[in-house]
Order: sequence, then structure tokens, then C-alpha cells
Amino acid sequence: MQTADIQNRWLTFFGDRGHTVVPSASLVSDDPTLLFTVAGMVPFVPYLTGLVPAPFPRATSVQKCIRTLDIEEVGKTPRHGTFFQMNGNFSFGDYFKEGAITYAWELLTSEESKGGLGFDEKDLWVTVYKDDDEAIELWKKVAGLKDERIQRLDKDTNYWSTGQPGPAGPCSEIFFDRGPKYGIDGGPATDDDRYVEIWNLVFMQYLRGEGSGKEFEILGELPKKNIDTGMGMERVAFIKQGVENMYEIDQVRPVLDKAAELSGRRYGHNHDDDVRMRVIADHVRSSLMLMSDGVTPSNEGRGYILRRLLRRSVRAMRLLGVEDPTFAELFPASRDAMKAQYPEVSTEFDRISRLALGEEETFLRTLASGTSILDVAVSRSQQAGSTELPSDTAFLLHDTYGFPIDLTLEIAEEAGLSVDRDAFDSLMQRQRTLAKEDAKSKKQHLADLSVYSAFRAQGETVFTGYEY
Ligand code: ATP
Ligand code: MG
Ligand code: MG
Ligand code: MG
Repeated sequence: MQTADIQNRWLTFFGDRGHTVVPSASLVSDDPTLLFTVAGMVPFVPYLTGLVPAPFPRATSVQKCIRTLDIEEVGKTPRHGTFFQMNGNFSFGDYFKEGAITYAWELLTSEESKGGLGFDEKDLWVTVYKDDDEAIELWKKVAGLKDERIQRLDKDTNYWSTGQPGPAGPCSEIFFDRGPKYGIDGGPATDDDRYVEIWNLVFMQYLRGEGSGKEFEILGELPKKNIDTGMGMERVAFIKQGVENMYEIDQVRPVLDKAAELSGRRYGHNHDDDVRMRVIADHVRSSLMLMSDGVTPSNEGRGYILRRLLRRSVRAMRLLGVEDPTFAELFPASRDAMKAQYPEVSTEFDRISRLALGEEETFLRTLASGTSILDVAVSRSQQAGSTELPSDTAFLLHDTYGFPIDLTLEIAEEAGLSVDRDAFDSLMQRQRTLAKEDAKSKKQHLADLSVYSAFRAQGETVFTGYEY
């Protein structure tokens, strides 16, 4: 089942059930408090919080997302991408818990020939918030699930709120059991490698008050309850395609194969190399999608995240033994895997490709000049009979030349030198503190953006500037 097929099944299923199909919003969220769109619900936040009346009672989408928070997981777990697509169905004061559970179960378990996703009921588990007896009863009634397939979990994983006073409520998550080959038999609460979370159902049921973290008071039931769900399309794709992880699905694998081909190393033979290939496949795709949504590499904000993704890809290719430029081959591979669902990656490709190749060239030059500075420092240490490379040299390389610390460590180690990591880290820490103070002093000069939310809450406006 190709990813595009899953997307069509999703939109048809919810479209047929009265949901307005809403196209994906940009990765660049218009919420000023967010760097990127991190979930399917982001474009619907004004409706979910009640700030703006929803123009439809129910909606569905396949939303492009970026989660930089997951960057260190990429390639190591089977299920975390920096870019991924979240399929959502939303109810704005329309159906609630029973509707959401019924739809999710029906779509997952109905036969492929009938438009469903064809999951076997015996492979599915669910978690609920520990006090949400109503959800437990519904899972039993709607899906016929036995007690042992329903796990009660804490607020950390199974309770949602924006972190502010406003709507909040319990979640229920659906997991796929990959079988004993992947871990112990204790359900999602004990093992998240064997049991892969595929779908999160959020029941926006209560009004929360002040509080911090997961400690807040519940003021009462919401007069209009909402549903927000998110299913990870790549996760379902990798399970349905019978591959090991999300980097091996039809939308991503061609980039991984290209990285293997260019490096002359085979995928599936060495763990570290495999992780690198998966990182490249993920980061190239994320960069492609970010640039297609107008992000350009820079030293701040969104552009900096993009720059990091691009540089990490170069770095990973280097660790695979390739020092020559490779983006001219990796990016077309990603474009071709994504263009059926996102034609703009083709029409915008000249621009995207120019940005990617320019960034690669600059970074390769940085690496080359950093390497020669490092070579001088290494031979100085050696001549002085020291076994250490000064930590301030490592810091200077990192801070001024953008030369990655892991590369410094690697080159130093090859020359038989160590770097005082604690000293390096404290230099880094000092730098971060200075940057934070700087940002704080800049922030004080920024306008209060909440005025725009209030403005939007007034509904439609008419432009009268031509007449008046
Ligand atoms: P996990 O616990 O696996 O990190 P999550 O609980 O952070 O997932 P949610 O915030 O509940 O994820 O997002 C809804 C759905 O989106 C998840 O059930 C999952 O299928 C998918 N998803 C979340 N993060 C990623 C990611 N980094 N890459 C791919 N899919 C993801
Ligand atoms: Mg997560
Ligand atoms: Mg989770
Ligand atoms: Mg979740």
C-alpha cells in the first residue's frame, strides 16, 4: 500500500462521513508562537480554542509537519522523522468520544477491498488516560477490545492541553504490535519499539485553569467538546509496506538507496552506516519540503533549522566516506519520490536545488578550511609533546567556522589527541547564556503579537483602503 494510497483512503473515508477536506497548510505556521507546523491540529487551533467560529462542524486533512524535537531520534528509532505527515480528523462541537473511537476503529480494521486500512484486530492495542472510564467502556463496546488490550496511562503521555488556561482533555492512543521479534510482550506501556504508536485521539472535554506543566486545575466541562486526532502516515505506511521503519517507505527509500549507491556501502550491513543513510534520507526530504514552503538557509530561526538539516546530511555522507558533493543526486531522488503528492517540489525544483547546492558548497569549503586550521593545531600539540587538543581551539572552530565538534573529536582522535569535553561544554554553555541574554534584550523591543489573534477573532474583515 503506497503512501499516496493511504492518503486517498483517509481523505475518502472522512470525506464520505461529512468532513470537509482541508488541504495541508504550509510547514511555516502562521501562529507566531511556533517555528513550524508540528501537528495536524495547528491550522485549526483558532476553531478548537473557540477564538474563531469553525466554518464547518467537521474537517479532515493530511498535514505536513516538522518536529525538530525528534531530530536526535531520527534513524535510531524506526518511527521518528523530522518531516512527516499527520492525518487528522476534527470535530468542532459535533461528534465526540464515541464518534472518534468508532471512526478510528472502522478505518483501521475494515478490509482493504472496502477502502479500509486492513489491520488485523489482534495486532492493535490502545492506551487511555487512567481516569477515563468512559473511553475504556467505549473501546470495549465499539471495538470489542478485551481489558488486557487497554492500558491506563498517566498525564505525561495521555493528557492534552496547550499549556495555558483553555481547553484540555484526555487522549487515547492506538498502537500496532510488531511481534516478539521486536521486544517483550507487555503492551505499549512497557515497550515502544515493539508497540508502535500510530494514532492519537484527543478528547477536548474540559476547561483547565492556571497551573504549570501537567499540574493544573480543571474548572469544568466544556460546553462544546472537540475532537482532534493525528495518525502518523509514515508509520502506517511502513507497517503496511512490510518494511522495518519509516525511512524504507516508498516516499523516502529512494534517497536512502541513492546515499548507499554514492558511498558504495550496502544498506543493512553495518548499524552505524544504516543510521547515517536513514538520517540522510530523512534530512534531505525535510529540507526539500522546507525549501518548497519558502524557507531558506540562514543563521536564525527556521533558516537555521534548515541549515542544520542540510549540514547534518553532508556530515553523514562524509561519515559514509564521501567527501565530494552529493546533493545534485540526492535531492532529485527525493523530489521524484514526493512529487506525486506535492507537485510544487517539481515546479519549484530549480530554486530549491540552487539553494541546496549553494549550501553544500559553502559547508564543504567550511569543512576544508576548518580541517586545515585543525591540522595546524594538531601538529602544534604534537610538537609540544601534549596529548591534548586545546578545548578553546575546538570551540573556536565550532563557533566561528561552524565546524562540527564531532568532526573535531574524530580528527583529534585519529592523531592520538583527546579534547577536554567538559571544558568545551562549559565554553558552549557560556556562549548559550550570552546568546539568551542577547535574545532577551532584543525581545523586549518586539511588539505584542497577541493583538493579531484578537483581530482574527473578529471574523472576516473588508478592505476599504481603495475607497477611503
Ligand atoms: P511518539 O511517542 O512515538 O514520539 P508522539 O506521542 O510524540 O509520538 P503525537 O504528538 O501523539 O506523537 O502525534 C500524533 C501521531 O503522529 C503519532 O501517533 C504518530 O503516529 C505521528 N508522529 C508523531 N511524531 C512523529 C515523527 N517524529 N515522525 C513520524 N510520525 C510521527
Ligand atoms: Mg514524540
Ligand atoms: Mg507518544
Ligand atoms: Mg502521542
